[in-house]
Amino acid sequence: MPDTYLNSIDGKWVPSSSGETFRNTNPSRPDEVLGEFQRSGPEDVDVAIQAAKRAYPDWRKTPAPLRGEIIARATRMLIERKPELAEGITREMGKVLVDSGYDVQGAITSGEYMAGEGRRMFGDTVPSGLPSRMAMTVREPVGVVGIITPWNLPMLMPAWKLFPALICGNTVVVKPAEDTPMTAVRLFEILEEAGVPPGVANLVTGFGAEAGQSLVGHPDIDMISFTGSQTVGRQIAKSAGAELKHVSLEMGGKNALVVLDDADIKEAITGALWGGFSTAGQRCTASSRIVVDRKVADDVVGGLVEGISGLVVGDPTDPATNIGPLINAKQLDRVHSYTEIGLAEGAELVVGGLKLQDELDGGYFYSPTLFDHASSDMRIAQEEIFGPTITVIRVDGYDEAISVANGTRYGLSAAVYTRDTARALHAVSELEAGLVYLNAPTIGSEIHLPFGGVKDTGNGHRESGPSAIEQFTETKTIFLDYSGTLQRAHIDEPSG
Ligand code: NAP
Ligand code: MG
Repeated sequence: MPDTYLNSIDGKWVPSSSGETFRNTNPSRPDEVLGEFQRSGPEDVDVAIQAAKRAYPDWRKTPAPLRGEIIARATRMLIERKPELAEGITREMGKVLVDSGYDVQGAITSGEYMAGEGRRMFGDTVPSGLPSRMAMTVREPVGVVGIITPWNLPMLMPAWKLFPALICGNTVVVKPAEDTPMTAVRLFEILEEAGVPPGVANLVTGFGAEAGQSLVGHPDIDMISFTGSQTVGRQIAKSAGAELKHVSLEMGGKNALVVLDDADIKEAITGALWGGFSTAGQRCTASSRIVVDRKVADDVVGGLVEGISGLVVGDPTDPATNIGPLINAKQLDRVHSYTEIGLAEGAELVVGGLKLQDELDGGYFYSPTLFDHASSDMRIAQEEIFGPTITVIRVDGYDEAISVANGTRYGLSAAVYTRDTARALHAVSELEAGLVYLNAPTIGSEIHLPFGGVKDTGNGHRESGPSAIEQFTETKTIFLDYSGTLQRAHIDEPSG
């Protein structure tokens, strides 16, 4: 019998009210069951939200530096347990150990940053236009926050929403992805041990259409912070927006890595391989489009083919492996369907395009895949594949490169390789993306800088760093008048 894992509500580990569970398996070996997890419904979500609501007044009043100490304790535990946590992520999610280590490290760095924020969380103090009057702003929590996360960064994603939400004084209910509930349970075990008070952080595992939707629709939720697909993000924006809840959405990307004719080709190839294939391409910032100047395209494609031939697909716990399995059977079919779409559209399949399940214990493995001679309007160049497939689009010169790079509805991350400083600066300014990299691939953001996208990737918010503090707080503007008399703003102010 596999182990059964519980929800964490109001400081207690509890089963779902229906008693129903769902099974989580290892994507490298789907026969290996990792555990049974609670299939939470509206009732469980309601109980969790009520706990968060009860815990809110005290947590809000707890001084932010004290909240920071608890987060710092949790962060120290993440550091101590990093190897075992990473191993658990690899078993649950399938990415190679080095990627899982990154996932935990992202949570650690976020914890370190946000713990320190307990002693900053700056407001503004500005001169008033009236004498004997102080004017300032302070940051206050939003309230009860619902956090909904995807499976591709199962530790980092919940952590980099939870830590800022908590440091700002919010209480939270987290619904992690159904494919990675175990990593979320591990994180909550740590939060509990670190001394997060009962009700402040609650975990309900389950399915998006059940637990997720109930969270979004609940009248006592003040804010939803969501990372995931655009389809689900749009639904959340509609329903939560109608209730005037705060909604922060981080969605997909179709990120372009642009290689101009004067680029360091070797570096560009190395970058494209890392950006395109790490985590088997299951990254919102993956370098899924390689936009190459025709003059150097044969060299770039040749280098990519050579690089791909050296990528090892297989057991993600083996340090020699570069590419583990995809997350589930549905995702494997989806990624393969894009190979068929690309072929039907007339792009040239240079390497890959194969399901490798039969060779590899029935795991959801897919061969690293390269399309060449794609045009920008093809579906493989427009839609997020979220797998180890990269698509080369050949262009004539700088202007076409930028216009192709910008020619999608997404706007998360973009990269440009060039040695020409002026062209680099033009590109950095003209690329329509929330993150732009020069001479580096589209992945590699750091926790103390804002993260997020323009156009249909997001709805105007940024996560991470100081932006996360903005996201998880309301601003209160305060005027302190010690003049002893009525002073009328805009009326009594002296003017020239
Ligand atoms: P998803 O299907 O949108 O799921 C994301 C989360 O939303 C999961 O927890 C999911 O639950 C839940 N959900 C599904 N339907 C819901 C509903 N109707 N109401 C409320 N919640 C619902 O995305 P995914 O396939 O897990 O993740 C891949 C996507 O995430 C990609 O598009 C990727 O680009 C994006 N992503 C973006 C970023 C970023 O920061 N921009 C980072 C990482 C990933 P279930 O697990 O039960 O479906
Ligand atoms: Mg699984």
